[in-house]
Amino acid sequence: MNSINADLHCHSIISDGTLTPEDLALRAHKNGVQLWSLTDHDVIGGQKRAQLAAQNLGMKYLGGVEISVSWMGQTIHIVGIGIDSENPILIEGLRKTRDGRSARGKEIARQLEVIGIPGVYEGALTYAGNPELLSRTHFARYLVEKKVCQSIDEVFKNYLVEGKPGYIGHEWASLEESVQWITAAGGIAVIAHPGRYRLSDMQKHELYQAFKNAGGKGIEVITGSHTPSQYEEYAKIAQQYGFYASRGSDFHDPDESRIDLGQLPHLPSTLQPVWSLL
Ligand code: AMP
Ligand code: MN
Ligand code: MN
Ligand code: MN
Repeated sequence: MNSINADLHCHSIISDGTLTPEDLALRAHKNGVQLWSLTDHDVIGGQKRAQLAAQNLGMKYLGGVEISVSWMGQTIHIVGIGIDSENPILIEGLRKTRDGRSARGKEIARQLEVIGIPGVYEGALTYAGNPELLSRTHFARYLVEKKVCQSIDEVFKNYLVEGKPGYIGHEWASLEESVQWITAAGGIAVIAHPGRYRLSDMQKHELYQAFKNAGGKGIEVITGSHTPSQYEEYAKIAQQYGFYASRGSDFHDPDESRIDLGQLPHLPSTLQPVWSLL
């Protein structure tokens, strides 16, 4: 069961990826993915397309989403796997969470204009496949186009992040809400890429406890965001806290993403995979 090629985290043009759900399905299938989930940020408008495309390829599909959460002043991402994309509680929760992205985008652009980079709001929008889901990734792509930076990585070092120009704090969903919406829609809540959060060990412990108390069950162990030593670190965390383990590339784009769909090590055999619950 742990050796299934599952990829339960990636993004399409419905959020901040660059491929359509259909092209992602093809690419996943070509790369040997056997169990797939599209997990767009705060939006499930691509779910029916992804499911149908997977079905046509004979690839198993699980409904998915990645919810933006504010917790202790930090942004945390909670993935929902096995969700019903027609659930009204989840649909309404995500609508609320997306709300405010356009206003935030305008403020980001205003800050950048002040330092001499004009037209960023309109520029970012040209990269957004879905105007309701304007993401910092779209801003980053535009800043690379305008040669403000050489790469997306460079953008996220010098702009759009706390303490740098173009950073606007935002209040996303609460941790409890995100887990409630996912659970209401029949899904399993999973902490996305835990190695990326800048939290102390104590804060991480608090996060895992709060997530568990809210009904959260899983954690990503094998993700495109982790180094091999972090695979081991979070395998231990999964065992220590009794979390089910997940695996996903977090693929966004063929040129930008370090890890392609399905191209990850298997889950360690000592862990219980999230897909054993579904
Ligand atoms: P947002 O939800 O609009 O704040 O945008 C967050 C998105 O920006 C993430 O989902 C990533 O795709 C992207 N992102 C954030 N930090 C980085 C980074 N250091 N390098 C590349 N992409 C990043
Ligand atoms: Mn993203
Ligand atoms: Mn994420
Ligand atoms: Mn993601």
